[in-house]
Formats: sequence, C-alpha cells, structure tokens
Amino acid sequence: SDQVGSDRVRRLDPATVDRIAAGEVVTRPARVVGELIDNALDADASRVEVAVDGDGTDRLRVGDDGCGMAREDARRAVERHATSKLDPDGDPVGIDSFGFRGEALAAIAEAARLELTTSDGGAVGTRVVVDGTTAERDGSRPPAVSDAGRARGTTVVVEDLFATRPARRESLSGASAEFARISSLVADYALANPEVAFTLDHDGSTTLSTPGSGLTDAVFGVYDRETASRSTELSASAEVATGDGPISVAVSGALAYPSITRSSRDHVRVSVNGRPVRNDRLAAAIRAGYDRLLPDGREPVAAIDVGVPPTRVDPNVHPAKREVGIRDADPIADAVESAVGDALTGADLRRKSDVDT
Ligand code: ADP
Ligand code: MG
Repeated sequence: SDQVGSDRVRRLDPATVDRIAAGEVVTRPARVVGELIDNALDADASRVEVAVDGDGTDRLRVGDDGCGMAREDARRAVERHATSKLDPDGDPVGIDSFGFRGEALAAIAEAARLELTTSDGGAVGTRVVVDGTTAERDGSRPPAVSDAGRARGTTVVVEDLFATRPARRESLSGASAEFARISSLVADYALANPEVAFTLDHDGSTTLSTPGSGLTDAVFGVYDRETASRSTELSASAEVATGDGPISVAVSGALAYPSITRSSRDHVRVSVNGRPVRNDRLAAAIRAGYDRLLPDGREPVAAIDVGVPPTRVDPNVHPAKREVGIRDADPIADAVESAVGDALTGADLRRKSDVDT
C-alpha cells in the first residue's frame, strides 16, 4: 500500500536540477574551454583564439570568427536547453555538430560571470552579460543586453569561475596543471581541425599557434620544426563491414616517425569527425599500427581523425562528450591500424636515425 505521509522520495526543484546538471558540464576550466571551442567550430570559425589567465578561473576568453548570433539568439543562447542544433524533439544520435544539449553556456553562466559579445555581420553587435556569481536566491540571473561593435564572430569571456563554489575551486590542481590540461586540449583541437587557425595565450604570451593551413603546419605549431619535418601525413579511406552493411571510414592525420617517441600515450591523439575524444580502442589501434617500429616502452606522437557517418557515433555516453560510443569500433579500429601501418611503410624511414632509435 502507499506509504501515506512518506516524503522520502521527492522531486527536485528545477533550480536544483539545473545546478546539478551544470556541475557535470563545468567541472574545471579546461571543460569550459572545450565547450567554447566546440561552439566556435559549430559556428564554422576559421580562427579560434583562446586566452587564459593563471589556472583559468580568474579569466579565460575564447574568440572566433564564426557565424555569430543575432540579438535574440544571443539572449536565448545563455538560457538552459536553448540550442540551434537539435529539433525540440530531436535525437542526438547522428548529429554532426559538437554541441546539441543547449546547456554549455547556461552552465558556465551558472558558475561564473559570462560576457558574450557577438555579431552576425549586421551593423550593430550584441553584448550579453550573465553574472552567476551574484545570482538571486531564486536562481534568476537576468542577462544584461547591450550594443557592441565587433566584426562577425563571437567572443566569450568567463571570469571568476567557481567564485561561489569553494569545493569545486579546491578540487582544482593548481595553475600549471590546469593550464597544462587546457594546452593539451587546444592542441587536440588544433590537430583535429588543421584547416582552422588556433592560438592559445597564457598570461599574455602565446604558447601555441597554428596557421590553419594543413596538418604539417599544425604539427609545427603544436610541437616544433623537428617533429613537423619528421612526420608524415596520412589520408586513407576504407570500406568497413558492419552489422548493417558497409560504411566508409576516412582515416586522416599526422604520424611522427618512430624516432620521435614519448614515455606516455598522451601524445596519441584521436578525434572522431573533428572532435577530440578519448577512445582507448582507437588509441591502441594507432599504437599497433606502429607495430615493431617503436622501441620497447615508448609511445608514438600521432594525431588521427576518424571520419565516420554521424549515425555511427553516440555522443550521449559521457556528459563531457569526450568519450563517444562508436558502433562497430572493432572493424573501425582495424582500419585505423592498417592505415597507420601502410602510411609508415610508405614514409621515408630509411634515414638511419628513423629506424634504429
Ligand atoms: P549547444 O552548443 O549545445 O547548442 P550552448 O549552450 O553551447 O549549447 O550554445 C547555445 C547556442 O548558442 C548554440 O546552439 C548556438 O546557436 C549559439 N552559440 C553558442 N556559441 C556560439 C558561437 N561561438 N557562435 C555562434 N553561435 C553560438
Ligand atoms: Mg555548445
């Protein structure tokens, strides 16, 4: 029978639900940067500029030259579950944009002071400011909207991240470790999107810059001249048999020669359709493609993008969207392994330094 009078299971009020969801999206500064870069790429930016002070909590900025937003869209963009990327009753499986939940900007604005300046190319741009650090007790944070002059594109400035969440702030690892995460993430994006120019500034100086003119130039920008000159580009496509018929898989990327190695697998980068992901199966396939070329205990430097039909990707696996479920990962991984193996076989590895180290 019903436990009349029991209220142990209660529905959360919407403001609490929002706060919990925001906590999953915005766990650390690198996550904020990742969401903002996703938005810039979804807006077809050809240039993405990231600037970070310290560990990123005081201030970080991501600017792009993408499509920008009209005023009403900009006002709505900071509201939760407002998105231009999914039909109201849509299913995210098969979507080819990076964002789709319509919660990143709202979640960031919940945890920080967010200033978004945008223009879709019209005469007057728009500035929207939401200050989550001074939220009313009922959770409302009416955005302040004003005119702004700027070229087409969008810039988001995030200040005082976690100002009202001391526990979250405490859980961060210190400025150099947090910046290292951001730097590694920007490198992931730059290598996965070599036709987009990326810059990363830290405390006023540029630490990474890629010109948007192809992979080898991106490798130069992320690493150095030596790595760029001792690496090969790869571009292959394969028909892969799956349970529901063949699909075509495009494998592209850059592989440093086996004379350039690292002790950890952190420099084996995998992206799926241009979005950096963590996928152990695909990372292992890249490693396997190098086969016996690598010295024992050494890991390669490689960035591989796997292009698959969007319907093969389920971005719902993880709130960060960094771990994606890939259907038929095994045959896709096999295609990656042989594409990497073939590319290294074809590359000029005859120089002694590139086979004997
Ligand atoms: P989502 O990306 O999941 O849609 P967001 O909260 O990240 O949710 O963004 C909300 C909406 O704001 C996006 O759907 C998009 O229409 C717009 N938007 C956000 N960032 C940008 C940007 N850099 N350029 C153009 N439009 C943007
Ligand atoms: Mg987004």
